[in-house]
Amino acid sequence: MQFKAKKSLGQNFLIDKNILKKIVGTGDISRNDKILEIGPGTGNLTEYIVKSKPKSIIVVEKDNNLIKILENKFKNKIKIINTDVLNLTKDFYEDNFIVYGNLPYNISTKLLAYWCLSINIKFKKLILMFQKEVADRIIADVNSKNYSRITILANWRFNIKKKFDISSKCFVPRPKIDSTLLEFTPKSDVVKIKYPENLEKITQIFFSQRRKMIKKNFIKLFKNFNYVSKITDIKLTDRPQNISIEKFLIMVKEYENNLN
Ligand code: SAM
Repeated sequence: MQFKAKKSLGQNFLIDKNILKKIVGTGDISRNDKILEIGPGTGNLTEYIVKSKPKSIIVVEKDNNLIKILENKFKNKIKIINTDVLNLTKDFYEDNFIVYGNLPYNISTKLLAYWCLSINIKFKKLILMFQKEVADRIIADVNSKNYSRITILANWRFNIKKKFDISSKCFVPRPKIDSTLLEFTPKSDVVKIKYPENLEKITQIFFSQRRKMIKKNFIKLFKNFNYVSKITDIKLTDRPQNISIEKFLIMVKEYENNLN
């Protein structure tokens, strides 16, 4: 390889051609689709996206050193944006992007949370690879140890399907852990929240003390805590992982009603 991978940018390149093909196939790309790929690296996945002949391809890569490689490889078949994906503002996102990304660990949860809460961005779907344990958190069931803030944000906004696990053997350099591919399709019936930041705020408050009973935070958040406890069927002795997504959403609605 003509390029030395940087650990700080999570650079583990996927080299298994069958898996690359399978990942791109998950998107069911048609001629009218607009593709956004985050972190193309040396373009391994991009190559198969190009072969699927979508309408357009934009890639966002933070590492300056990869830009020349991508330009030489793909010429004008793709548009390359050399920036940190976390710097992109909402107006960057066109409607109906199919987003692909083998996301580096240090930004994956933050980026997904941003996409979940940015309700004005209309995605067609997201096909994202995560470290297996991050994926396990995203698709966790209530009452399980993996149930987290990101479970609630992601499942509020998207229908999520686990597609398959990918062995660490398929990457160079080989990471310590396996990965999982998830497919996110926007829900057409997203439960309405006036300000999604309130879902972010409330989940943050509760999950920052995930082992503790919610009593103290709940009483602090709601003057009418007895009433809210009753309508949500949340007990003050519950821990955050016992509260279903539906209950969190009722809690946010109640919180927003109380703001008026
Ligand atoms: N897609 C390629 C593959 O599967 O072989 C590379 C995946 S590698 C795990 C992650 C890629 O994301 C690297 O190319 C890295 O430079 C890029 N990256 C890391 N942090 C980024 C950020 N904040 N914004 C954009 N790209 C980033």
